[in-house]
Amino acid sequence: MKALVKASNGPGLELMDQPIPEVGSHDVLIKVLKTGICGTDLHIYNWDAWAARTIHAPMIIGHEFVGRIAAVGDQVHDFSVGELVSGEGHVVCGRCRNCLAGRRHLCKDTRGIGVNRSGAFAEFISIPVTNVWSHDPAIPLDIASIFDPLGNAVHTALAFDVLGEDVLITGAGPIGLMAAAVARHAGARHVVVTDVNPFRLAMAERLGAVPLDVRTQSFTDCQRRLGMKEGFDVGMEMSGNPQAFGQMLANMCHGGKIAMLGIPEKELAIDWNTVIFNMLTLRGIYGREMYETWYKMTTMLQSGLDISPVITHRLHYTEFESGFAAMRSGMSGKVILTWAED
Ligand code: NAD
Ligand code: ZN
Repeated sequence: MKALVKASNGPGLELMDQPIPEVGSHDVLIKVLKTGICGTDLHIYNWDAWAARTIHAPMIIGHEFVGRIAAVGDQVHDFSVGELVSGEGHVVCGRCRNCLAGRRHLCKDTRGIGVNRSGAFAEFISIPVTNVWSHDPAIPLDIASIFDPLGNAVHTALAFDVLGEDVLITGAGPIGLMAAAVARHAGARHVVVTDVNPFRLAMAERLGAVPLDVRTQSFTDCQRRLGMKEGFDVGMEMSGNPQAFGQMLANMCHGGKIAMLGIPEKELAIDWNTVIFNMLTLRGIYGREMYETWYKMTTMLQSGLDISPVITHRLHYTEFESGFAAMRSGMSGKVILTWAED
């Protein structure tokens, strides 16, 4: 089969022939139809310090995908060949305290698909049955292929109650944009999205959010225009940028709640006086809940959530270099690669 491989230490990826993965008794073999390129894949492509520390080449990368089941192991009874599925990208240990208690998203020993084990940028992927999510066939394939990052957005956006609240999202990357759509869908009053990239801010506006370009616009003016008096009730940090996080802290209401998904490159200073005197709550968010977030993604899409404007590029997998270039340019939302026609 064809696969996109980090073949050796250093920048770039290679499209290579690889053996079709083996299917253990508790595994499911999936014929990949579409994949999404994630920021993580770009880190691996670029071979930054995190990638150099984390990836053991050779490695088939990629973890955002949708496909159809091609084969199941002899101990797999609940899935059948032909079913439309995606995979949860975190393979958990099953033995730690949290796993045993059913809180699998809090596993202390997760292994990442396309990071620590063979990934989805390939014609086939084999994953444990515990990681398979069966899709509502009414969900369009493009959307199904990005359930993984949509899950990050939903996990963050639903971390705190947003009904009737004013929400601030810092960072209009694909995940911030999807979170904006989710917060609107979940009944927020105002959703303000900040960025420094006009292309992405225009996308935020199309998704029903109020864009705020922090290079040229002020938070005070924005809040006055919206009739907000006391700051934002819920914050979602989705940029990983220290300045963006500082601005969020400074513009929260007293008792405000912040969910933090964005990954800062290095240690980040916090104005703890603001956190303490304004009694803010900060919560770190990683991945998505297995499988409550997957359930909520499905039901919100079934009840009218539309994230399709986030997809800006649809390419064949042989055009992967253009896909990664689009990601690098910042003039992109989600980039989808097609591996096979359904
Ligand atoms: P992205 O890099 O595409 O988006 C980040 C956005 O922040 C960009 O549009 C950038 O222009 C913007 N930005 C930069 N400086 C800013 C500033 N000063 N103010 C406001 N915005 C600013 O990333 P993404 O794919 O949307 O992911 C969002 C973040 O979440 C990233 O940091 C990513 O590493 C992280 N992430 C975390 C998890 C997790 O499980 N915790 C999972 C996936 C991604
Ligand atoms: Zn565990």
